[in-house]
Amino acid sequence: MPAVRARAVRVGVCCARRTGIATVTDPQLSPHFRLSEFTRSALAARFGLANTPGAWEIGNLRALCLGPLEWLRGEVGRLDVSSGCRALDVNRAAGGAAGSQHVKGQAADVIPAGTTRDEAFAALVAGMRAGRTVADQVITYDAKPHMHVSFRTAGVNRGQALRCLSDGRYIPWVPAP
Ligand SMILES: [Zn+2]
Repeated sequence: MPAVRARAVRVGVCCARRTGIATVTDPQLSPHFRLSEFTRSALAARFGLANTPGAWEIGNLRALCLGPLEWLRGEVGRLDVSSGCRALDVNRAAGGAAGSQHVKGQAADVIPAGTTRDEAFAALVAGMRAGRTVADQVITYDAKPHMHVSFRTAGVNRGQALRCLSDGRYIPWVPAP
C-alpha cells in the first residue's frame, strides 16, 4: 500500500513528466483513477490522432470516476480502463456512435482485474437498483470482454442496464437465474 499511495501523491499533486518548458500533467481524477487511463488509445496512436480532452470532458470524467466507477471499484477491486474519452476523430475511427458518451467524457469501458466481468456487472446493477450508486447506462457485451459505464453530470441518469448480443442488438439485461 505505501508504494501505491506514494505514486498517487506524486502523480496527482505534481506532474507525470516535464518536457522542456511544457509540463504534461496527469491529474488524479478520483482516489483510484488518473486521467491518462482514460485518454490512452491504441487506435489514436495507430492513426496518429491526438486524444486530448478539454476541461468540460475532464470534469465529466471526474464525475464518472467519483460516481459509479469508484463505487464499483470498492465492490470488486481494480478496474482496467480499456476505452475512456475519445476525441471525435478517434471515435469515428473506432466506429463509435456519433453521439457517443465516450466523446463527452461521460463513459468508460472497463474490465475488472479481480473478478469476472459478469460478476462485476451484476454487482453494479444491483447497486444501482438498491440506490447505492447511480449510473446513466451500463452495458455488457456477449462478444466483448468489457462493460460500458456512463454517468451524466446534468440531466437524468437513467439507470439503464443493457446487454449487447453478438449480433449487435441491445436488450434489457436480466440477472442470470
Ligand atoms: Zn463504451
